[in-house]
Amino acid sequence: MPRKLIAGNWKMNLAPSEVGAYAALLKERAAEAVEKVDLLVCPAYPALPLALAAFDESPVMVGAQNMHQELSGAFTGAVSGEMLIDLGIEWVILGHSERRHVFGEDDQLILQKLQRALELEMRPILCVGELLEEREGGRTEEVLRRQFKLTLGELEPKELKRLTLAYEPVWAIGTGLTATPETAQEAHELLRGLLREKLNEDAAETRILYGGSVKPANAADLLAQDDIDGVLVGGASLDPDSFAAIAASAPR
Ligand code: PEP
Repeated sequence: MPRKLIAGNWKMNLAPSEVGAYAALLKERAAEAVEKVDLLVCPAYPALPLALAAFDESPVMVGAQNMHQELSGAFTGAVSGEMLIDLGIEWVILGHSERRHVFGEDDQLILQKLQRALELEMRPILCVGELLEEREGGRTEEVLRRQFKLTLGELEPKELKRLTLAYEPVWAIGTGLTATPETAQEAHELLRGLLREKLNEDAAETRILYGGSVKPANAADLLAQDDIDGVLVGGASLDPDSFAAIAASAPR
């Protein structure tokens, strides 16, 4: 079984000038937790170089929140995977629900980004998850199967092995509504089954994170579920104390 991965998505929060103090506190508060879990923070682009420097020689890893599918060219405002690699960044979140629903990214585009990230030997975290009306309409399984098939269906087993999946029900992101551990486990079990169809017993090696209003108070119960291999944390990752407390609540 892989170690649990506790990943923080800072979104458009924490300025470069705030990174030093954040890193100093997180390194202190999570000193014990990093013995048993993997810790990753994903700052906004301008904060990446400072975060890399601040976590240098620390087990805390640094990733990006997004990337463009092309390597370079006339794409004003965009950042390529190659530029991230040049900085020393391997991890990248792709297909986050805010990219899908606020910026209009569809499965086709997300697949292109995913293929590029894999070609560059990056470590993508692919987010999937249903909207509230899809859950209420009993369509969660159909949506997860569709998102899985459209983004991961064509990938080779060896490419899938570099991937981390994140189940992030859209209705639970930034809303304070968390999926119950049982509801989350059910979705993770489905995703594990889809991975198993492609990877057989190696499917256990692909981490599936849960994301959606994870806090110190609910993290332990979520992380205790069989198929929850870590968490992707938005709001609560902005405070090093709560992020460290979430990491500390993971079972070994
Ligand atoms: C996220 O941004 O991926 C997320 C899960 O946010 P929050 O923890 O704030 O719901």
